[in-house]
Amino acid sequence: MTAREPPDELRALRAEVVQFRQLCNNVPVAIAYYERNGTICRYANHGYAAMFGHDEESVLGRTVTEIIGEEAARVIQPEVDRVISERVSVGYERRLPGGSGGVRSIEVHLLPHLGLTDEAIGAFVLISDITRHRRAEAALRESEERLAKFMHASAEGIVFHKGGFITDANPPLLALVGYPLDQLLGRSTLDFVAPPERARVAEVIAAGDELAYDSALLHADGSTVPVEFIVRTMYHQGERLRMTIVRDRRDRVAAEARIQYLAHHDVLTGLPNRAAFIERATLLLNRAAERGQALALLFIDLDHFKRVNDSLGHPAGDTLLQTVAERIVGTLREADLVARFGGDEFVLLLAGTTSAAAVAEVAGKLLATIGAPLAVAQAAISVTPSIGVAMFPDHGDCAAELIKHADTAMYQAKARGRAGYQFFHPAMAELARAELAMESRLAQAVREQEFVLHYQPQLRLADGALIGVEALVRWNHPQDGFIGPDHFIPVAEARRLILPIGQWVLGTALRQAVSWHASGLAAVPMAVNLSALQFQAPGFVDSIERALQEAGASGTMLELELTERMLMDNLDEVRAVLARLRALGVRIAIDDFGTGYTSLKHLKSLPLDRLKIDRSFVEDLPHDAGSAAIANAIIQMGRGLKLQVVAEGVETEAQRAHLLAQGCDAQQGLLDCGPLPADAFEAWQSSRARAGA
Ligand code: C2E
Ligand code: CA
Ligand code: CA
Repeated sequence: MTAREPPDELRALRAEVVQFRQLCNNVPVAIAYYERNGTICRYANHGYAAMFGHDEESVLGRTVTEIIGEEAARVIQPEVDRVISERVSVGYERRLPGGSGGVRSIEVHLLPHLGLTDEAIGAFVLISDITRHRRAEAALRESEERLAKFMHASAEGIVFHKGGFITDANPPLLALVGYPLDQLLGRSTLDFVAPPERARVAEVIAAGDELAYDSALLHADGSTVPVEFIVRTMYHQGERLRMTIVRDRRDRVAAEARIQYLAHHDVLTGLPNRAAFIERATLLLNRAAERGQALALLFIDLDHFKRVNDSLGHPAGDTLLQTVAERIVGTLREADLVARFGGDEFVLLLAGTTSAAAVAEVAGKLLATIGAPLAVAQAAISVTPSIGVAMFPDHGDCAAELIKHADTAMYQAKARGRAGYQFFHPAMAELARAELAMESRLAQAVREQEFVLHYQPQLRLADGALIGVEALVRWNHPQDGFIGPDHFIPVAEARRLILPIGQWVLGTALRQAVSWHASGLAAVPMAVNLSALQFQAPGFVDSIERALQEAGASGTMLELELTERMLMDNLDEVRAVLARLRALGVRIAIDDFGTGYTSLKHLKSLPLDRLKIDRSFVEDLPHDAGSAAIANAIIQMGRGLKLQVVAEGVETEAQRAHLLAQGCDAQQGLLDCGPLPADAFEAWQSSRARAGA
């Protein structure tokens, strides 16, 4: 050991100092020591020196002011004074301008260094950088503020709860439950959930799921408020919180109820619709089956409802349907079911009516009440119903089958002259099936043009001269042969196929007329039968004009046969249409005359050419007094109106003689000639010409 070598104690001390420095430089705290009343820096660790832009050497011996700046020194002076004079530790926080524009927050502790005489001879400075801590706090505060703002801005209810107990809620939620906030805080969320929903909500809370589901709240007034819960889990200050967004579903529920109602009701009459009827009828049928009871299902269709709609307008039609609905409901008993199936169709299920006689009585009552006149659009109108009845279980064991069969029976009621009721009979189903088959087959016939015309002459009674030819359509069925119009025209009308068929008839008959006019074989008007549908179709007169043009025919070559029914509605319109036809040279005949109810006033005011006495009045001539009276009256009326009168279906010489004696103008019938194909007609006419007729 040399003299220059320090003594052991000194070496140990030095080693301690080194250790101490190392320690001081590695703690995350800035440390310094100021001496002489805390103004001159005698020690600083690396962190402290660096904090103020120094190193551990350069900082030594400097004053506080030099190190931390004048401004900061002034600010902390009172703290320093306290440490020195009161010899206590103080702590304070202050901000330092940090690097790159930021600000750092530091927490400073000053500790007095007491000398041997117990006075403060210096001060230790300990500084912790709490910037990160403060920033986190600020961020938390901000996010809380944001959340609060969001909660208050939200139109939807929001509630926070912890373990199922409410910690906060916003005004919309308070409105949904009807309580002020202070009555919510701390209470179980389940208290505010509608009792039937509580189990589910408790389950969701227990599971801690994040999900959305429909539920209901219990309002303070005891009512139930349908809501949707959207549940989220959040962590707040280390705590697990549940946030539930509560969405008011009342509007949606109301809308859904409305949609549900619309799906089950007819809007116009408020009656159940088809779907609802079938649903309820099925329940009633099942119950009746269990008890071995019979029920009656009625299908009601209004006669000629379309006429009301067309002539008085849809609002009038709507009023009529509403009135009919009221009348039906008024006629029935509470337990009976009534539905509107759309259009003018109503379907009823009579719950307690088991016997056919009782059903007939109800049907009779319905006919009377529905058919009573009512005032619509300043007009007194009345529509009669046609009613079909199917009995459970005899005519079907389910709603669909009963409806189908009652519908079939209703059609039968219509065919029997309307304004009546008809019970279903299995034979009707056969008929309906045949008609259905006919329908689809007929559509094909139209496409393939499987029709032919036969021609029947009309002869003057006085001298047998040809005064006209009637074109009569036949369906030349590839398998079944010729089918008469009575068999397929009603179906064609029901399916509107009569329009293309009628057009074909018109064109074919006119071309035939042109040819016979040219050859001189039969230079007489060609009579063509019209269906009501054709006559009512928009642009009817235009279509006649077009047909004439296309066939190269003049209007005078054509006679149109209308029935009385077609002339009954809308007299002014009918008169205008007939006047336009007359202007084209087309002649008008009234077919089947005597079977309708045309008034004399009507007849007088229309531009007509011919009346055709219906075959039914000719049939029993001359012996049947009733037929004779009617036939005679028609002939007299025709003469009075200066119309030609043609008798249909003249089969015997006696009929002919009677008609001639009464002053009838012409005849059409088997006595002379039935309907013939064109070539046969030509042969018949040529042979007559040769015979000198
Ligand atoms: P309609 O207009 O009364 O035609 C006269 C019907 O009487 C024809 O029956 C004819 O064959 C039949 N007939 C003629 N003379 C006699 C007779 O002496 N005795 C008897 N018992 N019957 C006779 P068809 O051809 O079967 O026509 C039946 C109905 O079909 C027609 O009655 C007419 O209403 C309708 N029809 C015929 N062709 C057409 C058409 O092209 N269009 C439309 N819409 N209907 C047509
Ligand atoms: Ca006819
Ligand atoms: Ca006729």
